[in-house]
Amino acid sequence: MKSSFNPPVRTLMGPGPSDVSPRVLSALARPTIGHLDPEFIRMMDEIKEMLQALFKTQSPLTLPVSAPGSAGMEACFVNLVEPGDKVVVCQNGVFGGRMKENVERFGGEAIMVMDDWGKPVDLDKVEKALAETDDVKALAFVHAETSTGVRSDAESLCALAQKYGCLTIVDAVTSLGGIEVDVDGWGIDAVYSGTQKCLSCPPGISPVAFSERAIEAVKNRKSTVPSWFLDKNLVMGYWGGGGKRAYHHTAPVNSLYALHESLVVLFEEGLENTWSRHQQHHEALRAGLEAMGINFLVEEEYRLPQLNTVYVPEGVDEAEVRNRLLQDYSLEIGAGLGFLAGKVWRIGLMGSSCSRRNVMLCLAALENTLSAMGAPINRGVAALAADAVYSG
Ligand SMILES: *Cc1c(COP(=O)(O)O)cnc(C)c1O
Repeated sequence: MKSSFNPPVRTLMGPGPSDVSPRVLSALARPTIGHLDPEFIRMMDEIKEMLQALFKTQSPLTLPVSAPGSAGMEACFVNLVEPGDKVVVCQNGVFGGRMKENVERFGGEAIMVMDDWGKPVDLDKVEKALAETDDVKALAFVHAETSTGVRSDAESLCALAQKYGCLTIVDAVTSLGGIEVDVDGWGIDAVYSGTQKCLSCPPGISPVAFSERAIEAVKNRKSTVPSWFLDKNLVMGYWGGGGKRAYHHTAPVNSLYALHESLVVLFEEGLENTWSRHQQHHEALRAGLEAMGINFLVEEEYRLPQLNTVYVPEGVDEAEVRNRLLQDYSLEIGAGLGFLAGKVWRIGLMGSSCSRRNVMLCLAALENTLSAMGAPINRGVAALAADAVYSG
């Protein structure tokens, strides 16, 4: 006989999931009702309105895909990419590589624009690729590269796509809720995100939005969408307006309660306030880490406040540090991915995890752990440096 599973209480400061507040967690425990119940449908309409406000879009095709961010990614590519389509894909980390995989699996041709890990997408290289290639269907890029902590200039990239007459597919999994995402203002055609990063919801849901142009492109496809589950034409029968809801799949009812609650929490704080909170705590964390002698991978201008990638000090076993943080402080930080593995840590300040308490805990825990392991860091200065940021 197995007994109940009771997870330890952790502080989550990795690349996601982030801390889920008791308020959002308790929403999960509300009574399950039918996914076609009029009360449930009323809540779905509110989720849609709040997601439109969050993405800053009027698009009626804004909805939460019932699966994690990777499914939102696939929903965008499987609907928009047909065999033979050319897609310019920007890669400056792990997630751009997944975009390439998506394009190729759906029979498209990925024209790659490569940049170093830790650098933003280079606008000149993108323009060159767009100018040199005929009939580009879409430009695809990651707004906030979670593998490196880099923010690329989404607004300028979208402007380039418009100049060359192609669609844009944007990964906003880590950016949404942490920094500005302006879908209509920037002219994004297909965007996907996730619940477990800056929305501080349990993982498993992916908010997406499609522009009118993207909807036109899906309607004008020569071939049927090769995924039944992610076919936007079919999903719209359930999530679409007009009050008529047809069964498509059983929505994850309780997970959507949690998403609804997390969006209510977000709009109580206000979108601009959320962004400035992320920026403020990032600056405090950064001051503390730099005082300790720990350096950032990414140049200041392109750093994401919600994902801080820093170099592991010389001679330190980085996995041992993460183990000790988990054992001694119940604190999770992230490891490096790909060829940054072993070289960096990724410290998340996402959503509810982005707080003064967590910044101070992380600095103290890192300082004590690194000192105990004999790492060459400055002691006794990190908390003061972070506090100086808070005191203005
Ligand atoms: C986390 C992440 C994803 C994948 O989301 P899952 O919910 O893990 O499937 C995609 N892109 C970026 C930039 C991410 O950070």
